[in-house]
Amino acid sequence: MTQIPIAEIPDEGLPLSYSEDPAELDLAVPGARFLQPIAVDLILVKAAQAISATGRIKTSVTCECVRCLSRLLVPLDIPVATQFLPALPPLPPGEYRMPPDAAEDYYYQDDVVVLDDLVRQEVILAVPFRPQCRGDCRGLCPQCGQDLNVGTCACAPPPDPRWAVLREYLKGK
Ligand SMILES: [Zn+2]
Ligand SMILES: [Zn+2]
Repeated sequence: MTQIPIAEIPDEGLPLSYSEDPAELDLAVPGARFLQPIAVDLILVKAAQAISATGRIKTSVTCECVRCLSRLLVPLDIPVATQFLPALPPLPPGEYRMPPDAAEDYYYQDDVVVLDDLVRQEVILAVPFRPQCRGDCRGLCPQCGQDLNVGTCACAPPPDPRWAVLREYLKGK
């Protein structure tokens, strides 16, 4: 766990550069695998109660093409510009608080900034939602599973509904 006591952040800011093992971060994204270390380059700066964190996170992720299911490696280069705010004190039981508007803020507790939450969150959000191996991936034949990027198969193409209308029309002649 990477955590920084706020007392150790000097006025001019604290540059950090380290590499995190993805296995340590519990990056649960369906279909995505993180095989490379996560390179974190951030500078933490104190501003009153808030600690700003700016820099980049770089890694790469292996995903499955949504069309042909081949694996592809997607490099991630994530700009970070966020801040840690002091965690609000717990409310007495039975009271509720509206969630904060700025969802991209993080919180710290006990004067310690835990960077793992930030790194985990930023990396998960950067994983492509519907990755495709290439823009014009032809996908798999729905009938035999042939990868249509590699070659064609002998399956009849599914009947086009537009032709069915014409066929009905010609039958009526
Ligand atoms: Zn594909
Ligand atoms: Zn086929």
